[in-house]
Amino acid sequence: MPRFDVLVVGGGPAGSTIACRLADAGAAVLLVDKARFPRDKPCGGGLTMRAVRQCPVDVSPVVEEEVDLVELRFRYGDAVVRRSAQPVIRMTQRRRLDAFLLDAARERGVEVREGETADVSDAPADVVVGADGANGTTARALGLGAGIVHGVAYEGNVPFGVVARERYRRRAVVELADIPGGYGWVFAKGDHVNVGVGAWQSEGRRIREHLARVCLAHDLDPAQLESLRGHRLPLRRPGVRIAAERALLVGDAAGLIDPVSGDGMYECFVSSKLAAAAVLDLLAGRSSSLEPYEAAVDAALMPLHNASWKLKRALDRWPRASWRIARTQLLWKTVERLLLGELSAPGEQHGVARIPLRALEVLGRHG
Ligand SMILES: Cc1cc2nc3c(=O)[nH]c(=O)nc-3n(C[C@H](O)[C@H](O)[C@H](O)COP(=O)(O)OP(=O)(O)OC[C@H]3O[C@@H](n4cnc5c(N)ncnc54)[C@H](O)[C@@H]3O)c2cc1C
Repeated sequence: MPRFDVLVVGGGPAGSTIACRLADAGAAVLLVDKARFPRDKPCGGGLTMRAVRQCPVDVSPVVEEEVDLVELRFRYGDAVVRRSAQPVIRMTQRRRLDAFLLDAARERGVEVREGETADVSDAPADVVVGADGANGTTARALGLGAGIVHGVAYEGNVPFGVVARERYRRRAVVELADIPGGYGWVFAKGDHVNVGVGAWQSEGRRIREHLARVCLAHDLDPAQLESLRGHRLPLRRPGVRIAAERALLVGDAAGLIDPVSGDGMYECFVSSKLAAAAVLDLLAGRSSSLEPYEAAVDAALMPLHNASWKLKRALDRWPRASWRIARTQLLWKTVERLLLGELSAPGEQHGVARIPLRALEVLGRHG
């Protein structure tokens, strides 16, 4: 068995992009995934521009729709449509996106083995990267990730023809304040819309009802949804360990999903970038452990995720008051800049646009 510098377990967006970055820097990388690609992953497939900016591969060939209209609705009634001068989200299908990113890793010299799992206690590599997602086993095998909590999401597709393409063109619809700990969405793709819901894990047994209500609000019979599937949303709390001396976790394996939006691909790309830097430091002898990676992730993502936890609490406890703030043009200014990646967290916003942020923060306070 040849030895490698790094074993990456999992070939989703987190695993493929760390493999790309390490291979670009000259490391010998083995990536194993238990699935054979193209494989699907339950996901809305929405790449915010802030995610796109962090991705080391140009994903344009697999983008099916660009979104510059965001429609926010409250309890399937009151609605506002916000328009951006430039696309804020690039819509993909994960089946295509993930195969494309994995090919990019292969092209950079990564040895990719599909349909295989790895024994991390006997890895043929100096460093192990756990990138095996929300249901992966690497974190536990490495003694990392204890204390991650979970949400749950459920989604399916409806072809254009059944729904009118014109209604959803260049649009992301977000349905707020009906689902505890989450929201519903309708996202436009190339030849269909993706309809889904996310919620606290405790809502798991009612998740089909939540999805049915979103369907009805869009004049759809839930039976018209194709390829229905659910998946967990892992949410890291402060202090959860994601790095050891010679091993670390990236993406969903590290629980890095944004608690309010349920997005995780931005976090995949940010964590894989920071992890690659930590691994390269270790391999070059500039550091003796991967543990500093944890502080780097905290610095990059905690300001955003802390604000998201507060917003999640505000929406859950004070839905009407939160909606009155969420629908304002002033709040959209911050949301737009966050989606575009011009701000890495709401706290960086300046001036009068801070007023609605401050109000939401007060509503989302503990206690
Ligand atoms: C319904 C839903 C909708 C979502 N919508 C969005 C969205 O619109 N935008 C967004 O940014 N995020 C969204 N997310 C979050 C996003 O899907 C995840 O954050 C993202 O998939 C995480 O990528 P990853 O590479 O960490 O893990 P994954 O994409 O889950 O990849 C993990 C890989 O590891 C492999 N694997 C697992 N176990 C093993 C093993 N033992 N050995 C080898 N391989 C293994 C799997 O086969 C898989 O290929 C959504 C999530 C859900 C559930």
